[in-house]
Amino acid sequence: MPSVPLLLAGAGHAHLVTLQRWRAQGYRAPAGSCLINPTAQAWYSGMLPGLLAGRWQAEQCCVELAPLCAAVGVSLQLGEITQLDANTQQVQLADQSRLRWQWLSLGVGGTPQAPVDNDHSIALLPAKPFAGLYQQCRAWQQQDAPQRLAVIGGGAAAVELALALARLLPATQLSLFSAGPLLAALPARATNLVRPLLRQRGISYHEGVTVTAIQSGQLWQDSQAISAADAALLASGNMAPRWLAESAITCDATGAVRIQPNLQSSSHPQVFATGDCASLPDCPHNGVQAVRQGAVLAENLSQVLSGGQATRPFKPSRHSLALLATADEQAIAIRNGLALRSRLALMLKDRLDNGFIRTLRGD
Ligand SMILES: Cc1cc2nc3c(=O)[nH]c(=O)nc-3n(C[C@H](O)[C@H](O)[C@H](O)COP(=O)(O)OP(=O)(O)OC[C@H]3O[C@@H](n4cnc5c(N)ncnc54)[C@H](O)[C@@H]3O)c2cc1C
Repeated sequence: MPSVPLLLAGAGHAHLVTLQRWRAQGYRAPAGSCLINPTAQAWYSGMLPGLLAGRWQAEQCCVELAPLCAAVGVSLQLGEITQLDANTQQVQLADQSRLRWQWLSLGVGGTPQAPVDNDHSIALLPAKPFAGLYQQCRAWQQQDAPQRLAVIGGGAAAVELALALARLLPATQLSLFSAGPLLAALPARATNLVRPLLRQRGISYHEGVTVTAIQSGQLWQDSQAISAADAALLASGNMAPRWLAESAITCDATGAVRIQPNLQSSSHPQVFATGDCASLPDCPHNGVQAVRQGAVLAENLSQVLSGGQATRPFKPSRHSLALLATADEQAIAIRNGLALRSRLALMLKDRLDNGFIRTLRGD
């Protein structure tokens, strides 16, 4: 069985930053190192709502992995990991091939889960993987758009997607179902800006509603039918891939790998994890944290690959700026309990998003 010194699993945000940092430093990964990802491109989530709202072209929102990998001596293998055994240090891919690794870095993200009680009477579209979301929404734009589309989720991604889809599919009746208050993780001022915006765009929203079942073309909360829908977009309740929890690595309740501040697994030191598939106290799951972890990962991986210790700790940012796209000429900037909707916020968001993509491309 082939063995590799370093296996990067998934082109998550932190892996992209790691590769970009190594390229900038002229660092070469040990011969044989590889990145496994199902697709040859990595999508940047921050630009996806803008893509759906018609502000970007698809090629502006993703990065080709091959040149980024080649620049640091990492080979790109297209494939999907389906099993991991952390004790024997092996992965198995969907094509049944196996690979042994000496060091493993996990950046495979998470995907929203459908309610377990589901008779498949409503077409379900998960917000991830992004390529699937984009293709389905474009197909709906061209023909057979659902008359009634439910967005399940009430966080920033769900709100951004609902606003973008209201632009993309103007004839579709959109409803948003949020288990708690809308944007519960953000300051109340942001929620107060978003509620009237949703109303203006004809999107009905329902707070404190947990969709527990899909039966007979209806969304249900426990034994109560809440709403009929033709399709539902899943934009909440991310779970890490099931094979992580089955791998012998210590995981939390969402299946994310419990890590130490240096991003090393708390149970298996040969394993690192970042982004949505990693669990670190006080570190929310979002792209900003994953990107910031990338710089720390780059340093710690190069240290262990040269026989040293992973010494650099990651400190989650508590007051990072959030920029929420509103599918028009403005965005909402949120920081330190304040929220402001303006054109300037959109200009800043575009600048940061485009800058991130350009840095990864090496432009
Ligand atoms: C619509 C939307 C908009 C968002 N906007 C923002 C935003 O503006 N700002 C922000 O901070 N956060 C945003 N988020 C949240 C953000 O997308 C996630 O927190 C972020 O993507 C986490 O990145 P990650 O690195 O963990 O994984 P991901 O970006 O999900 O990448 C995981 C990678 O692993 C690959 N992979 C998955 N399974 C396997 C497997 N079995 N084998 C091999 N490879 C695999 C995937 O193909 C993918 O390339 C948004 C989310 C959504 C849904």
